[in-house]
Amino acid sequence: MVGTGGAAVNDTLTVKKDLVFDFGDRDDGAIGIPGITEDGKVIETSYFFGKARPKNIIVVSSQAGCPMRCTFCELGEERFARNLSPEEIRDQAVLMLEQAQMRGFDAVHVPHKVTVANSGEPLLNAQLVDGLDLLAGLPVRSFKISTVLPRSEVTAKVLADLADFAARTERPVQLQISLISTLEERRFRMSPGAASFRKIREAGEIWHSKNPTGRKVNLSLILAEKMPCVAADVVGMFPSELFRFRFREYVPTENGRDHGIREISPERLADIKREFAGQGYEVGDWASPSPMERKFGLASNVIRKTYLRMTSPIPA
Ligand code: SF4
Repeated sequence: MVGTGGAAVNDTLTVKKDLVFDFGDRDDGAIGIPGITEDGKVIETSYFFGKARPKNIIVVSSQAGCPMRCTFCELGEERFARNLSPEEIRDQAVLMLEQAQMRGFDAVHVPHKVTVANSGEPLLNAQLVDGLDLLAGLPVRSFKISTVLPRSEVTAKVLADLADFAARTERPVQLQISLISTLEERRFRMSPGAASFRKIREAGEIWHSKNPTGRKVNLSLILAEKMPCVAADVVGMFPSELFRFRFREYVPTENGRDHGIREISPERLADIKREFAGQGYEVGDWASPSPMERKFGLASNVIRKTYLRMTSPIPA
């Protein structure tokens, strides 16, 4: 059994498995679980590993459903149900570490990062930091919180709590904000409840003031054909002392396709990266989807959607 830091053993976890998906091989693979909560909500938990990764990554959900309804997300129009409890956030990682150990990973000594990203918007869950405190009892070396940064008072409070958590824990904590586009109007169109660029800048300042030696805030773009991604338009708003850009090509999904999002060409991607480097940003390939992720179209919530399709009744 995985060292659970006092967590319950498998049969009493608050999140259970009904199906486990295995993708790829040992060099580039993933495990995906549609996690089932005690009240029957389906969330997504995943585990990524491979030779190109310095850490194995456990990705957990923070909510059942999501109020944000971003047009590019595979949760699509699904309604928000509820926030996950701190125990449900932790138990997803316990469940996944057990699955990893069953496949021969040394869950205690292999470095693990926990990313809060899959189903839901973490900065709308007021108990997010309580969940991270529970996760800190597991063999986890670092954390990443991936957010759209909603326009909400709850978000301001959770962000402050999260910055305090990052300041008091010895483990690195990465805040990643999905900027979506360098054109603010496009950001609002794709995520109507998202905060303004000005609020993102303020979030970067808060983060830096509480964690002056910590990691810069990541800004991620949807790197897709025709998505405005122009470094010169945002360099004044998002200085490279506070922010770095994360370059991850868009992986095609059904919902994205239905909203007209198309894969980026290698030439355009290279141009965008060159331009960002020219404005003084760190530019790298570390976040590019792996061949396995491209092959199976593994974007957030794709595994969950596949499961729901498999288990829905066949129309008569
Ligand atoms: S991208 Fe994130 S915040 Fe937007 S709908 Fe999907 S889960 Fe919610």
